[in-house]
Amino acid sequence: MSNCIFCKIAKGEIPANKVYEDGQFLAFNDIHPKAKVHILLIPKQHIESLQVVDAAHVAMLGEMTVLINKIAIDAGLHNGFRVVTNAGPGGHQEVPHLHYHILGGGRLPGF
Ligand code: 5GP
Ligand code: ZN
Repeated sequence: MSNCIFCKIAKGEIPANKVYEDGQFLAFNDIHPKAKVHILLIPKQHIESLQVVDAAHVAMLGEMTVLINKIAIDAGLHNGFRVVTNAGPGGHQEVPHLHYHILGGGRLPGF
């Protein structure tokens, strides 16, 4: 999507502090970190949120989920992490391109 900030980051049109990249996915540091480590993991393909995924996305979502632990370990989160995804206005999603927040380091508040 031409107007999407995360699509622009995926295409390299907007800079980001990348921590992981392959053909299908990109992970980069959140510009306003809410924890010591706050990484955003996105598919390069524009998908708005978990509200619009279906059976056609199962393989992609599986690969994306498996990537989380590798990215967390590479970021030093050996003791664990939190994953959050906001979907739609009801989830207070600000950027309408599917992303997992990977959070950790220090002491996270209870949820
Ligand atoms: P959401 O509310 O959509 O789940 O979260 C969007 C996240 O994207 C926020 O945590 C926000 O700080 C982050 N963000 C928004 N714009 C940019 C940007 O241009 N670069 C980076 N690295 N993060 C961004
Ligand atoms: Zn997008």
